[in-house]
Amino acid sequence: MTRPPHHRPVIVVGAGPVGMSAALSLRALDRPATVLEAGEQDRLRPGSRAIFVHRATLEVFERSSPGLAGDLAAHGLVWQTKRTFYAGRQVFARTYPPPEPTALPHFTSLPQVETERYLLQACKAAGVEFAWNAEVTHVSSGVDGVELTTGAGDRWTAEYVIAADGSHSAVRKALGVTMSGSRSDGWYVVVDVEENPTEPLPAERVFHYAHPAVGGRNVLLVPFAGGWRVDLQLHDGDDPVRLSEGADLRRWLRAVLPPGYADRVAWASTYQFLQVVADDFADRHRRALFTGEAAHLFAPFGARGMNSGVPDADAAATAVHVALSTGVPARARAAVEDFSISRRRAALFNRDAAGTALAHLRPDAAQRTRLEEAARGAADDDRLGHWLDTAPYGPRDIPPGNTIYKY
Ligand SMILES: Cc1cc2nc3c(=O)[nH]c(=O)nc-3n(C[C@H](O)[C@H](O)[C@H](O)COP(=O)(O)OP(=O)(O)OC[C@H]3O[C@@H](n4cnc5c(N)ncnc54)[C@H](O)[C@@H]3O)c2cc1C
Repeated sequence: MTRPPHHRPVIVVGAGPVGMSAALSLRALDRPATVLEAGEQDRLRPGSRAIFVHRATLEVFERSSPGLAGDLAAHGLVWQTKRTFYAGRQVFARTYPPPEPTALPHFTSLPQVETERYLLQACKAAGVEFAWNAEVTHVSSGVDGVELTTGAGDRWTAEYVIAADGSHSAVRKALGVTMSGSRSDGWYVVVDVEENPTEPLPAERVFHYAHPAVGGRNVLLVPFAGGWRVDLQLHDGDDPVRLSEGADLRRWLRAVLPPGYADRVAWASTYQFLQVVADDFADRHRRALFTGEAAHLFAPFGARGMNSGVPDADAAATAVHVALSTGVPARARAAVEDFSISRRRAALFNRDAAGTALAHLRPDAAQRTRLEEAARGAADDDRLGHWLDTAPYGPRDIPPGNTIYKY
């Protein structure tokens, strides 16, 4: 005999940072929240991925779980100095005053695994229900809701589903929603190294155009609580795998950091970044809402990935809350429609902003000349140095018409 499905008003799929944010936002609206997660309860997710958490994201966390943003800020690190070098020569440096101890900082920098640990604690404290080892494998939606089946054969039904199941989203694919965009040409090696107490480094964000010690490749060094993120931008023709492993990895790390750091690699990965956005942020019945990497993938320059996934999650929870509160089907549909339109618009904006950063990092001949001229003139004109310093992260603007969510 088939077991009846478990029914919940709303189910979140995926316990990454975006799914857990959605669950917290639902709880803050006094809605029960259930999360189905493919992984096991005490899993250790590889890599640290997002390190840079914007204040706008902290504000969403603080609203949905008072105290959470303060915990993340206290655990994370705020660097006060940033520097940019061109072919080994400093072209820009700025030091900011320390953040006010009573206010949220402009950002905090910590490994994503730590952010997720705090989110999980907050979810448990808020009474979020988790089903671990529950990989969603089949999904169907209709006018009344969504049915999900897990690999173990458990069936779940819900009026609404918030899909936060990451870049390979089974929910999005099963419901026939496609992604559009492109893949960047260039390769990057991204490495996290643990802090070396015997070779302490100042907590400064440093960007090198054409670093002379690594064959003129661009290098970005970003501190986070407990270590350093090192991005190496490869030349065309480089072998990404070779430069992300063993002696070759250690050799270039020794050229950009004090030597002991080369033996403190926590993880290293190669990337060719996707710049893609879902063609719709909800299914055709307006019952499944796509958030985070289930809905968009950006190059990480400008840190718009998780920082836009969290407001997606918050907006999805609000839309579901409105839809569940109204007795008028057209209003419920409109709430999901508004979510889809506004968050897709934000995602397109963020994709283009990250694309501007990517293009800056792979200059054509004319742009290369402008960069060289700016590097030559930076000593006399601070605006040139400022441009060199900020352009690798893309424009700082927020999506247009977006008054609540900054990314
Ligand atoms: C090198 C790098 C640096 C980055 N730096 C930054 C940064 O500084 N700041 C920033 O904002 N962003 C950054 N990002 C992006 C950020 O890591 C992502 O945006 C973020 O992880 C997306 O979170 P998510 O919850 O949408 O997806 P994920 O983190 O992928 O989580 C998805 C969850 O869903 C689960 N799942 C998957 N399939 C199923 C299924 N079928 N059923 C049930 N569960 C499922 C997975 O196990 C996982 O737990 C970076 C990314 C990279 C690669």
